[in-house]
Amino acid sequence: MRQLLESTLARATRYLEDLQTRRVFPSAEAVADLTELGGALPEHPEPSEQVLERLDRFGSPATTATAGPRYFGFVTGGALPATLAANWMAGAWDQMSGLKVASPVAVALEQATIPWLLDVLGLGSRTAVGFVTGATMANFTGIAAARHAVLARHGWHVGKQGLFGAPEMRVVVGDEVHVSLLKALSLLGLGRDRVERVPVDAQGRMRVESMPRLDADTLVCIQAGNVNSGAFDPAQEICAAAREAGAWVHVDGAFGLWALASPQRAHLARGVADADSWAADAHKWLNVPYDSGLVFCRHPEHLMSAMSAQDAAYLITSADRDPTDLVPEMSRRARGIEIWAAMRSLGRSGLAELIERNCRQAARFAEGLEAAGYEILNEVELNQVMVSFGDGDITDAVTAGVQEDGTCWCGGTVWQGRSAMRISVSSWATTDADVERSLECIIRVADGLVGYP
Ligand SMILES: *Cc1c(COP(=O)(O)O)cnc(C)c1O
Repeated sequence: MRQLLESTLARATRYLEDLQTRRVFPSAEAVADLTELGGALPEHPEPSEQVLERLDRFGSPATTATAGPRYFGFVTGGALPATLAANWMAGAWDQMSGLKVASPVAVALEQATIPWLLDVLGLGSRTAVGFVTGATMANFTGIAAARHAVLARHGWHVGKQGLFGAPEMRVVVGDEVHVSLLKALSLLGLGRDRVERVPVDAQGRMRVESMPRLDADTLVCIQAGNVNSGAFDPAQEICAAAREAGAWVHVDGAFGLWALASPQRAHLARGVADADSWAADAHKWLNVPYDSGLVFCRHPEHLMSAMSAQDAAYLITSADRDPTDLVPEMSRRARGIEIWAAMRSLGRSGLAELIERNCRQAARFAEGLEAAGYEILNEVELNQVMVSFGDGDITDAVTAGVQEDGTCWCGGTVWQGRSAMRISVSSWATTDADVERSLECIIRVADGLVGYP
């Protein structure tokens, strides 16, 4: 075992060091060689060292360098050093973390991080926190609590009675709702097509003046951080209206919720803390390894009634609560360990600095591209930048050219009818020098294509 782990350490270290210089997206040859990982099942056991040798030889070159400093696709965090190391410990421990009786340490680590998370995000100290796989499951879990609460007011226990014959429940979303939230609605039987959609402004923010009338049978789903523009729905106004009407507000804050941890950016998320439930990713801006997300709920009793496998969930006091009472999974890995390591290694100031640095780097991208004559399509207030290089074909060609160049990786999107390249700055590993090097690459590719259409 020692020999195997030591050689694996050497492989992993070499891999991470290589990230500074290798191309960000793997070469076509490396991807083609992945067939070497398939083939027939071995008839007989193979030495573990040989298994790892094959994994490294064919797997490592075909990875996308998302753990490196110049990956700006989707919204992708890296893994802080302490979180990767803690992840290795968690692998060695192999704890089942759904029940206290199964693993005191896994549960204690999660319990320790809960007050830290509530503190930096400014959510009330009674807020329940569940550790899930990502924002999709966090949205699912928060909305399940909302569904339970809304229907319970009618004396309808949705967990026991199901949705057939249940009272009607309304769902309001912005036109820029993230697809994962619609997926959560569809999984919960609330239907992705029966939502009431609210028009949005040029940044993708819900227009408050166009909101439908809210009532106590309504769930309003808002966003903290649009996946393209980084914009926040006007939470303060929406939460106030919802509070008055008795409606439930759920916040999809996959990455934007972390703005609350930065004194410089928290104003963008004004009013977000007034909601009833929140979803956030840890594998995005908190920079822990995949997969890791968090669900927060102001009403622990509703979250527990929606999630607990026990019949009388409301009888479970917080001291007796097991992690499984708050999330869909029963058995699961000790997911809180990397969050614990991230929060300890960053501290309050380090977390704020990470958020602020990435925002500043996004602003530098926008400034550099604008100075080179290209059009920025969004107000760059957070970590997201959208840029157009001309018409749709040119912009798509620049995006493809940047990906092919390999210095950095940016994805494409369509924003309010226009093609754009997206730059999402979300990694602890990105230095200012990486931003300059990436800017130079993007402008070089763009100038080449725009000059010779
Ligand atoms: C990434 C993202 C999600 C989905 O998160 P996963 O971690 O992929 O499940 C949901 N909403 C927003 C706004 C996101 O950016």
